[in-house]
Amino acid sequence: MTSDVFFTGTRTTSRKNLLDRLEELVLAAGLDDLPLKGRMTAVKIHFGEPGNLATIRPNYVARLVRMIRERGGKPFLTDANTLYKGQRANAVDHLQAAMENGYNPLSAGCSVVIADGLWGFDYREIEVNLKHFACAKIASAIAEADVLISMNHFKGHEQAGFGGALKNIGMGSGSREGKMAMHCDSPPRIQSAKCIGCGECVRNCAHGAVRLTPERKAFIDQTLCVGCGQCVVVCPAGAAQISWGSAKTLGERIAEYAFAALKGKPAFHVNFLVDVSPNCDCWNHNDTPIVPDIGIAASKDPVALDQASVDLVNRAPMLPGCALQKTGEPPQDKFHALHPDADWERCLVHAETIGLGTRSYRRIDLP
Ligand code: SF4
Ligand code: SF4
Repeated sequence: MTSDVFFTGTRTTSRKNLLDRLEELVLAAGLDDLPLKGRMTAVKIHFGEPGNLATIRPNYVARLVRMIRERGGKPFLTDANTLYKGQRANAVDHLQAAMENGYNPLSAGCSVVIADGLWGFDYREIEVNLKHFACAKIASAIAEADVLISMNHFKGHEQAGFGGALKNIGMGSGSREGKMAMHCDSPPRIQSAKCIGCGECVRNCAHGAVRLTPERKAFIDQTLCVGCGQCVVVCPAGAAQISWGSAKTLGERIAEYAFAALKGKPAFHVNFLVDVSPNCDCWNHNDTPIVPDIGIAASKDPVALDQASVDLVNRAPMLPGCALQKTGEPPQDKFHALHPDADWERCLVHAETIGLGTRSYRRIDLP
């Protein structure tokens, strides 16, 4: 089986700007095949940490949102809270971060919904019965949407190798507990030397799993902990920490969560290969892009789309002065050179194995 991936470059004229190119692209790739009329349409995007300027321009979002509306859909922009502390760990801060980065009703033309609620506890369990997970905890606004359209900034990622459609859908649709399950094999740990004994973790643990010792040091009872990650995000001292698991199986877990998020849902995916920064948009900065802007790709198959995107980046010339220069000669696999401990291919291989799509694609370049 081969999937079609449609691609458009970045050259423009006064009659066809980049927004027109996006519109032409998504129509060619089959947006009109989606049953949008009257349907809740989740536009899954990564809002990015404030300070990171490499996220997808809101102008692109506004054009796609307008197209969804014109077809009778009910679009909303969405992302789920993060596992770690930062400006996107709860819905209030997350909405503020989204607004600062330009994603708001005025600029995007639709509402912004934090998919897993105020503290990341709002999720639906979706049965998948796959290698790593029997059920996935998918943020409720994504799980309950009728249609999912992913808009993905394609860039490097420290643990996954690169972030594209599968990463945005899989990791990005997991509730905090789901993210913890993807990232970790064990509950959070307390770094005693940092603990100031404030008790915030005790007050915020809904499962009674944290207590303070007589020395006022937090202690997690692993038999009660469900791995929700709440203690990590409320700890003011950085003492409650995530026990990051092996990056080796992370890609497979992301693929299974993407499978859950897309299960039974009409979907469509767009990758933006512009400002291809070496690291994730979760950072509050974006380093020099590793390649020149390449273009935009779209497909109904997220596996084919990510495979085509990584191939496009790997065939592109390396930009001088970028993080890749530390590796000397331009590497054949840029993402592996940037993040040698990550294994991006494993995500695509597993995604193909579980039936999410195919790595075999036909690229159709629009004029
Ligand atoms: S991860 Fe959740 S359940 Fe476990 S100790 Fe922390 S707050 Fe409690
Ligand atoms: S919230 Fe952090 S600093 Fe406060 S008691 Fe818990 S682990 Fe210690």
